[in-house]
Amino acid sequence: MTRKSYTGEQLVVSFDGTICEHAGECVRGLPQVFDTKRRPWIDLSEITTEEQADKVREVVGRCPSHALLIEEKQ
Ligand code: SF4
Repeated sequence: MTRKSYTGEQLVVSFDGTICEHAGECVRGLPQVFDTKRRPWIDLSEITTEEQADKVREVVGRCPSHALLIEEKQ
């Protein structure tokens, strides 16, 4: 299992590094959340409003490989 989950207040994002195409849509789209120079490289701690969560959903939706996926919180 190579998919890893990152949990925020509003939503959960998962990432599978084995299928990432390094297209950079994520880091260009939302650098405060997706930053490959940082560990963990996905940080949802600043995503506290529904509007911010929608932006994360939008950027994750642009990931061409589906390495990034939204796992909605229950
Ligand atoms: S947008 Fe998807 S494929 Fe592109 S770098 Fe980010 S995770 Fe990888």
